[in-house]
Parts: sequence; C-alpha cells; structure tokens
Amino acid sequence: AAADLGRLAAAVLAQIQDVVIEHEDELGNLDAIAGDGDHGIGMRRGIDAAAAAGRDVSAAGLSVQRVLTAAGEAWSERAGGTSGALWGSAVIAAGLALGNKDAYRGADAAAAVTAFVDAITALGKAEPGDKTMVDALLPFKDTFLAAFDGGAQVAVALASAATAAREAADATASLRPLKGRARPLAEKSVGHPDPGAVSFGLIAARVSAYIDT
Ligand code: ADP
Ligand code: MG
Ligand code: MG
Repeated sequence: AAADLGRLAAAVLAQIQDVVIEHEDELGNLDAIAGDGDHGIGMRRGIDAAAAAGRDVSAAGLSVQRVLTAAGEAWSERAGGTSGALWGSAVIAAGLALGNKDAYRGADAAAAVTAFVDAITALGKAEPGDKTMVDALLPFKDTFLAAFDGGAQVAVALASAATAAREAADATASLRPLKGRARPLAEKSVGHPDPGAVSFGLIAARVSAYIDT
C-alpha cells in the first residue's frame, strides 16, 4: 500500500544520500571547470534535507505521495541553485504520479519515471544537446519505457535505464553547454561531462542496484 511504498521511497532517498556523499567532491570539481563549483555541495544540501524529511514522514506511516512531496519541497528549499529546484520539483511530481493507492503495479513506476523527467524538462526548458542533466534523463526515460512496454519487470527496466543514463552522461563530454551557468565558459567544458548529467547517472545506478536487491 501507499505507506509501504512510502517506506521504500525513504530508503531510496537514503541510498541517494549515500551516493551523493561519496561523489560530492568529484561533482564540485566537475562543476568548477566551467560552472561555479557548487554542484557537489548543492546536491549534498538538497539530499540531506530530502532524506531527513522522507525519513520523518515515512516513519509517521504516511503515503508515498506525502513522503515524496515533503522530500521534494525540502530538496528545493535547502539546495539552492538550478539543480536543486529541478530535483525538488521532479521528486514532488513523481510522488503525485504515485498518489495514494491501495496497491501498486509496474505501470505506476512507469508513470513516476515519466513524471519525474517531464517535470525537469517543463521547468528547466532545456533541449536535448544543451549539455544539461536532460541529456541523461531523456535516454533514461526512453529506455525505461521501451523495456517496460516490452514486458520487462520494473527492476530490469530500471537497470537498462540506469546504464543508458550513465552512458549518456559520459557522452555529454563532447557537447558545448547551451543552458545554465556553464554557458559563458562553454569552451572550457568541452571534453568534460555535464555535472548534473553525471550526478543523475550515478544516482540512477545506485537506485537500480538497490531496487534489484
Ligand atoms: P547552479 O548551476 O545553479 O550552480 P548546480 O551546479 O547544482 O546549480 O547544477 C548545475 C547543473 O544543473 C548543470 O550541470 C545542468 O545539468 C543542470 N542544469 C542547469 N540548467 C538547466 C536547465 N535549464 N535544465 C536542466 N538542467 C539544467
Ligand atoms: Mg553550480
Ligand atoms: Mg550555483
């Protein structure tokens, strides 16, 4: 039921917190090449707040929608920066897509993935190839939906999607940034992947590995 999925959502947020802490310095250094160097600390502040909010709300036995709404609001509020606003709204959108039901099926996961990615494109308005996290998010969503529509279990679809996200994040190295703070120093960014795409790929891989166990 919705409270069980709320507890799973809180556990997933704790996993995201672990992977962000592990890569905090690396993400900051990557953002310092052409951006302002705060992607590691921004993600850290956001997920620390989101994981704490998720833990409290899930411990109270509330629905996955309530857990993710609280987590997303905390993420946006505490992270500051572009990526924090985008992650916060995406987490809230995934929670709204999951809603408050008695039972969940694979199609709910597909709806949550779609809502998560669509929230970021709607708010940030980045196009594919602009060298943002969207370049990892779109292959993630497309791969997930193709696998799921082809009959794959959620965990299997998620594993394929996470691999696609990591590969797409790496591939952003060849792009010039057309959105965000890295744009004025675009030339410096060429040869290095986009920080927001890299963090998304790392998070997708961690969540996939967790869901698989
Ligand atoms: P800020 O740029 O405000 O310092 P961060 O450093 O935390 O925020 O995040 C930078 C990342 O945000 C970029 O690497 C990129 O992936 C992502 N980003 C920036 N602008 C957009 C946008 N309009 N749409 C989607 N993602 C974006
Ligand atoms: Mg930054
Ligand atoms: Mg900043």
